[in-house]
Amino acid sequence: MPVVFIALGTNLEPRAAHLEKALELFRSFPDVEVKRVSSIYESKPVGYLDQPDFLNLVFEAETDLLPVDLLDRCQSIEEELGRVRTIRFGPRTLDVDIVLYRAEIIEEERLIVPHPRMQERAFVLLPLQELNPELIVPKWNKTVNELVAELPANDLEEIWKYAPES
Ligand code: AMP
Repeated sequence: MPVVFIALGTNLEPRAAHLEKALELFRSFPDVEVKRVSSIYESKPVGYLDQPDFLNLVFEAETDLLPVDLLDRCQSIEEELGRVRTIRFGPRTLDVDIVLYRAEIIEEERLIVPHPRMQERAFVLLPLQELNPELIVPKWNKTVNELVAELPANDLEEIWKYAPES
């Protein structure tokens, strides 16, 4: 079955509960088998800066769903979590992105895979590195480790492992 990597992000409370709920919904699909889930990372917003910090994770799954059908599922989970979005890159209950679908390069109107901004996003690359550091990312033809090494040092100061008590 195709292996996929999916990224979750949220910056509206209760943040950790939104991630848990999204994973629970993915696990409830009979045709999606969630395999491994990264740690939760906390990161400063990028783009629109005047908003709360994000929690992010990446999980690995196996699925028979075609890429656009998987996107539909991702969007249905965003809807279910009541995503309200007024500003592009602004606060959201839950953002669900398909990071990788096998080693495929997909460039359709609704879906671009590998996710077009993954190589510049520490909040995608660090959790992905935890799951599979040597994975070769198509399009850039680099390993996740190599893409992490190319991130600006400043970006790595704006992300840390999430400690719920802090
Ligand atoms: P965003 O604001 O990042 O949540 O973008 C949502 C839009 O991105 C949707 O209209 C999707 O059709 C589109 N999109 C393109 N590529 C992807 C991808 N790899 N994962 C999720 N959404 C994608």
